[in-house]
Amino acid sequence: MPRKKAAKPPAKGLLARLTEWIDREGPITIADFMQLCIGDSEFGYYASQQAFGLEGDFITAPEISQIFGELLGLWAVAVWQSMGEPANITVAELGPGRGTLMADALRAFASMPNFAGRLSLALIETSPALRKLQARSLCSRGVAVEWFESLEAIPPGPLIVLTNEFLDALPIRQLVWRGGSWRERSVGLDANSKLAFTELPSDARGEELAVAMAPEAHEGAVLELRPAAREIVAALAARATTAPMAALFIDYGHEQSGLGETLQAVRQHRYAELLSDPGEADLSAQVDFADLKRWAEAYGLNAYGPMPQGAFLLKLGLEVRRDRLLQVARPEQQPAIISGAARLVDPAQMGLLYKAMAFTDGTLPPPPPFSAEL
Ligand code: SAH
Repeated sequence: MPRKKAAKPPAKGLLARLTEWIDREGPITIADFMQLCIGDSEFGYYASQQAFGLEGDFITAPEISQIFGELLGLWAVAVWQSMGEPANITVAELGPGRGTLMADALRAFASMPNFAGRLSLALIETSPALRKLQARSLCSRGVAVEWFESLEAIPPGPLIVLTNEFLDALPIRQLVWRGGSWRERSVGLDANSKLAFTELPSDARGEELAVAMAPEAHEGAVLELRPAAREIVAALAARATTAPMAALFIDYGHEQSGLGETLQAVRQHRYAELLSDPGEADLSAQVDFADLKRWAEAYGLNAYGPMPQGAFLLKLGLEVRRDRLLQVARPEQQPAIISGAARLVDPAQMGLLYKAMAFTDGTLPPPPPFSAEL
């Protein structure tokens, strides 16, 4: 006789599950903590929260101004032309959020029927809730849209990848310099069973950056490593050996590798405690563009940038696009168009902290606007 299925235990929040897990198995690394807090498909931040926009916890460039996605769309068209206009082209986005960037890019593609007619969209997104929002904004617009688990799963062929604020959400490890060696910052429990930072022995000896930074490290110095970003670069490099490939990464981060901790929790447009309310706040950390570039070049890709977002968007024609929008906008829409465009490029806002970096296979010419630099 078939046994009756045991009743499912009542769902618990992430804090309770984490506490139970750590109590049983011991501390988890910062990378695992970050992965669970933002990536858990049931309780993770992106699965359960309305993250983006004015009413969300933070606002991203595509949500600020449609010009952002339109210019990235035009960038993709220019890159496709530099590939010799292949008959089929996949434009992929990693971490598309609400699908706004791609929806605006599609608007830009509409004026390029040659490109739009040969296009398939490939989306890589871990959050089921966000996949639904992406479907709502991108399906039934006359272009094939498909979701994939990874870059490797996208069918072979020419590929253009767009990403905004994707890398900053990938888990980081934090190494702490203690008594002459690196230790792995981890999350354990204190005497009251509350989440608390702790440090464990680490296997950092094989990590090139950890070795390189050791002579500069002082007691307590923190070094952040992002192995998942390196895996993305490796997957792009593998594709680039079989077909034309170009990828654009826009994110907040620094140009030089260095010591210092940048992991932050943001909730309702304010910084929050890292360990309080896991799954309720967005966790992200600055992108180390220099490290990415080193890996890309080591894998045989051409790497361009990082260029500050302000310069990048201005060189792609942000002002021309803004002025065209203003011409057709109603008077009451104009202030938002002007302030949105300014926010993207203003050095005191997103213009300098955010940066653009592009990778291409070795055969392609430098993509715009990096081409103008050489
Ligand atoms: N690009 C969007 C969203 C940025 S937030 C914008 O600019 O508005 C980060 C996005 O990456 C979310 O969609 C999140 O669910 C997704 N994400 C985070 N980690 C991921 C991973 N490992 N694989 C795929 N998507 C991921």
